[in-house]
Amino acid sequence: MEKNGLLEGRKKFIMHKENEVPITISCDENSLSGAVSQRACVYCGARVVLNPITDAIHLVHGPIGCASYTWDIRGSLSSDSQLYRNSFSTDLREKDIVFGGEKKLASAITEAYAEYHPKVIFVYATCVVGVIGDDIDAVCKNAEKELGIRVLPVKSPGFSGNKRSGYKAGCNAILQLMGETKIVETIPGSINYLGDFNLAAEAWIIKSYLNEMGVKLLTVLTGDSNYESLLQAPRAELNIVQCAGSMTYLAKQMQSAYQIPFDKVRFLGVDETVIALRKIANLLGDTDIIKRTEKLIERKLTEVTEVLKQYRERVQGHKAAIYVGGGFKAIALIKQFNNLGIDTVVIGTQTGDQEEYEMIRSLTKEGTVILDDTNPNELQKFMLEKGADILVGGVKERPLAYKLGLAFIDHNHERKHALSGFEGAINFAKEVDLTVNSPVWDYIN
Ligand code: SF4
Repeated sequence: MEKNGLLEGRKKFIMHKENEVPITISCDENSLSGAVSQRACVYCGARVVLNPITDAIHLVHGPIGCASYTWDIRGSLSSDSQLYRNSFSTDLREKDIVFGGEKKLASAITEAYAEYHPKVIFVYATCVVGVIGDDIDAVCKNAEKELGIRVLPVKSPGFSGNKRSGYKAGCNAILQLMGETKIVETIPGSINYLGDFNLAAEAWIIKSYLNEMGVKLLTVLTGDSNYESLLQAPRAELNIVQCAGSMTYLAKQMQSAYQIPFDKVRFLGVDETVIALRKIANLLGDTDIIKRTEKLIERKLTEVTEVLKQYRERVQGHKAAIYVGGGFKAIALIKQFNNLGIDTVVIGTQTGDQEEYEMIRSLTKEGTVILDDTNPNELQKFMLEKGADILVGGVKERPLAYKLGLAFIDHNHERKHALSGFEGAINFAKEVDLTVNSPVWDYIN
């Protein structure tokens, strides 16, 4: 431990922005032992990716505690099946850990199938399964033969890497479902939307824009998707990727297996939404789509510009700290705060990469603290040092903000308000206003 209260091994994951000095932060590494990382485990990463597949059974092979990570804390919405909202677990006990859990898993799959008749079951391996070495591949293969449905193993023991490894495990299960090669015709003018989990109906907001533009949205991976829609995904002409951390891997694999090109977009904030819509229209290259897109943008800008100006007048001058899962979201949030007249003084992510951290560096002011895979101790220290008065984070950061008497904005997967698109930009500004101008601060400051 250093004098300033930071662990020696964490130094390389923390940077202070210095103008013109390129970023050299360590990232995409396993968490430092003893640092009490805020980052979720491999299994949680896999559930982020797969849980919104609505007509699937998500069977957690492990102790019951792992199964607490379920729909309640990942509130993606469905237009049809609600099966994904149930929690299934093999509930491994001491005896299973000593003698192996394969038989229990096989009978759990059979029992779940008999009750619900799903077309696909995802079987998640958790920490203890990684330790005792149950052969979930073999159990899933046998179950596929016996039941005539897809039963897909998800290799996600919590300790076997970091959250990014879990994203990859989830994407590999999707690839297994879709097949190794393209055996279907491309649908012209159609796209898949990767990395939107339909939290608070966000994918439906984007779908409404695409409809207006004349673009056919084939499959969202994985918000409000299902077995059939995933099988359709290889037919798309283009993949657009919002949550780059979780879905760039899948986009690259789909490019190589199905020859679908991809590009990254961000629908967080007005500026980013405009850029994303124009990018999609230009990539598809259809003049009608381009014209309709410009009309949509013009109408939406007329609706939101004055409203956002009013919020800016009420919130400008505050200082923000941001700690979120992915770099793409962090970048969009800095821009949104800049547009509201708020400087970001502390910024961190769980799974950002070098390119994203460099972009973060270029968008922030000198002295901003940039953190990878941080912990509550560091967050508290730097928020107090830098005078942050609002924190954007998720369920694990909320108590810290409240204890420190800071305004808080929930940008996590359990939230109930949409933050995507033009509507989301208004919701975000409104929430910043509500929290920083709450009368509660008169009582505690
Ligand atoms: S997989 Fe391991 S780290 Fe993840 S929730 Fe289960 S026990 Fe915890």
